[in-house]
Amino acid sequence: MKSLSVIVPCYNEEAVIEVTYNRIHAVLQQLTHLESHILFINDGSSDDTLGILSRIAVHDKNVKIIHFSRNFGHQAAVTAGINHCKTELAVIIDADLQDPPEIIPDLLQKMEDEQANVVYCVRKSRAGENKFKLWSARRFYRAMNSMSEVKFPLDTGDFRLIDARIVEEFNRMKERGKYIRGLISWVGFKQVPFYYEREARYAGETKYPLRKMLSFASKALLYFSKKPLLLSVSLGFLAVCVGVLLALWYAFGKIFGYTNAESGFTSIMIIVIFFGGIQLLTIGVLGQYIGILFDEVKERPEYIIDHTTNF
Ligand code: UDP
Ligand code: MG
Repeated sequence: MKSLSVIVPCYNEEAVIEVTYNRIHAVLQQLTHLESHILFINDGSSDDTLGILSRIAVHDKNVKIIHFSRNFGHQAAVTAGINHCKTELAVIIDADLQDPPEIIPDLLQKMEDEQANVVYCVRKSRAGENKFKLWSARRFYRAMNSMSEVKFPLDTGDFRLIDARIVEEFNRMKERGKYIRGLISWVGFKQVPFYYEREARYAGETKYPLRKMLSFASKALLYFSKKPLLLSVSLGFLAVCVGVLLALWYAFGKIFGYTNAESGFTSIMIIVIFFGGIQLLTIGVLGQYIGILFDEVKERPEYIIDHTTNF
């Protein structure tokens, strides 16, 4: 009998977590040919998520919980789930029921039919999301693909079914700043899409405010692409070309008398500001990569577990 873990990261999800459990549990009960667990990762919630999960875990021994010592973020929570699942198959799913658990049997079927190692879920539509989020996510996934060395499937979150091969390779990755959907694409093997309608959040608020969205996007870009550095070089090159042309223009102007040196204030200001800006920008880009190196060389653990339940 094969075994399946459903990995659910939760951060302050008291409004939905019980319904989420019920819906996932109902789906797993139909899958009689599988031995299945639900693995909740409580990512340092400050509401009653811990209390509700603990109560559920008393009655259902197939519910395992990892409690973090504080909030380490969505990607760290999913990472902990993958690190701790000992099953042949694993589904990663959000706690807010935007990803309907009812399609898990279809994912399993698809994996079997196509003999795939990953079935990733592609959103055909997204309900209950504001225009800005839809637009920015769309732009982001397309921009990422043009910048990154690895190609990512478009409009895909972390909602997916993976097998033990992927889990094993994922667990070998030592980088701390994990962009999970990118890393799983990067691993390779056979990965197939499954199209679904993404629902609106069942209850509660998004745990990804703009600030977190931006930091998530920049992490993805910096970890998967060196293009921003190349872009800095191109900008520098462009600046040098402009500089050489200007130098020639002024030098010849001096010789042939078509420029008036005293009236150069405006042009000098423009040049100083423009090139100053380019320099700060490119140093900033460089700084971002150095920041990543700084974080990575410290080799701190990605998350700290306070305690676990039913392990
Ligand atoms: N989440 C988490 N830690 C965080 C933020 C979010 O574990 O610091 C979980 C959250 O509980 C949910 C999933 O990650 O299960 C996705 O978050 P959310 O639904 O708020 O993001 P959105 O769908 O709005 O992008
Ligand atoms: Mg959500």
